[in-house]
Amino acid sequence: MPTSRTVPFFNYPALFAQHEEELVATFRDVGSRGAFIMQRDLEQFETHLAEFLGVRHAFGVADGSNAITIALIAAGIEPGDEVVLPSHTFIATGAAVHAAGGVPVLADCGRDHMIDVGSARAAITARTRGIVPVQLNGRTCEMDQIDALAEEHNLVVVEDAAQALGSRFRGKNAGTFGAAGTFSFYPAKLLGCLGDGGAVVTNDDEVAEQVYMLRDHGRDRDGNIRRWGFNSRLDNLQAAFLDMKLAQFPKEIERRRFIATAYDRGLSDLGQLQLPPPPGGAADDHFDVFQNYEIEAVDRDELRAHLSRLGVGTMIQWGGTPLHAFKDLGFAEAPPYTEAMFNRSLMLPLNTSMSDDDVQHVVDATRSFYGG
Ligand SMILES: *Cc1c(COP(=O)(O)O)cnc(C)c1O
Repeated sequence: MPTSRTVPFFNYPALFAQHEEELVATFRDVGSRGAFIMQRDLEQFETHLAEFLGVRHAFGVADGSNAITIALIAAGIEPGDEVVLPSHTFIATGAAVHAAGGVPVLADCGRDHMIDVGSARAAITARTRGIVPVQLNGRTCEMDQIDALAEEHNLVVVEDAAQALGSRFRGKNAGTFGAAGTFSFYPAKLLGCLGDGGAVVTNDDEVAEQVYMLRDHGRDRDGNIRRWGFNSRLDNLQAAFLDMKLAQFPKEIERRRFIATAYDRGLSDLGQLQLPPPPGGAADDHFDVFQNYEIEAVDRDELRAHLSRLGVGTMIQWGGTPLHAFKDLGFAEAPPYTEAMFNRSLMLPLNTSMSDDDVQHVVDATRSFYGG
C-alpha cells in the first residue's frame, strides 16, 4: 500500500483554510464596527444556536469548561453536594464540579463508552444532588434511563455535551434534556471557533436568568449586580465566526456520519477491533455525530505505532488517563470497564478536512496491521 499519504489526527490550519474568505470578511465586518464584547453577533449566534437545538435559551460563554461550572451553579448545585459523572471524561467535567463547590464522584462507562447507569446508581449517597452525563464522542446517553434515575433520587441533571452538538436521542438534541446543557467550541470540536468558546443552553427560564448573570459579573439585564458572578463571556468575534459556520453545520454532520459508515464497512469484519455503533437509520434511538471515532483494539500500542509509520495520526482520549487515574486528585474509585478499556482504546482520525482517499488510507493501514 502507498505510504506517502499523511492523515493528521486533526488539521488545525484547515479550520481556517476551509472558510478563509468568509472568516476574513467576518473579521473585517466585526472589526470595523468595533463590536468586540456582547454585541449583536453574539445575540444572533445565541438565537440561531437555540433554534438549531430546539431549546428556549442559549448563552455564549468563555469555553466549554466554564460552561459546565456556570450550568451547575445556575442549576442549584451548592458547596458540599456530591455530583456523579463518568470517569471517562475530560478533566474539565470533574474540575467544574469542584469549582462549583461540589464533590465529583466517578462512575464507570459501558461498551458504548457512555456513563453506565448501573454504576451511576451505585455511586449515589444521601449527599448526591446532581449527575453529569457526558455526551461523549458525538453520541447521546440513553437519557430515558438517566432521567428516571435522576427523578428517583431527586438529582439535578446537567449534560456535558461538549462533544455532541447536533447529536440526538429519540429525536431530542443532546444538551436539551437536563436542567442545563453545555457545549464547547474549541477548534477541534464539532463546531470549532478560532480559539476558546462555549455555550450553556436551558429550557428553564429561572436557570437561564442565573446563567445570564453568572457569565457577566452577576449583572442582570438592567445592569444591576444581583449575585457573585464571573467574567466568562464568549467573544463577539468568535460568536460571529460560529454563526457563519453554524449555517453549514448540518452538511458537516452528514460528512462525519459518511466517514463513520466507511470505517464501519471497512473494519467491522476484523475481530480484533470493537467499533462504535455505526450511524443508524431513522428508526434508531441514536443520531450520532461522531466528534470522535473511538475504537477498542487488541495490541493497541502496536497498532498505533504501525498507523504512525503509515502516516496516520491517532490519539488516546485524555492523553490516556481517565479521571480516576489522576493519582494527585485522590479518587478512591477504580471503575473496572474504564480501567481495562484504556489499555485498548484509540481514536482514528475523523474530521471534515479528510478526503475520501484519506479515509480509505486509514482503513487500508488498519487492515494491513491485522493482515487483513
Ligand atoms: C472539550 C471538552 C470540555 C471542555 O471544553 P473547553 O472548551 O476546552 O473548555 C469538557 N468536556 C468534554 C467532554 C470535552 O470534550
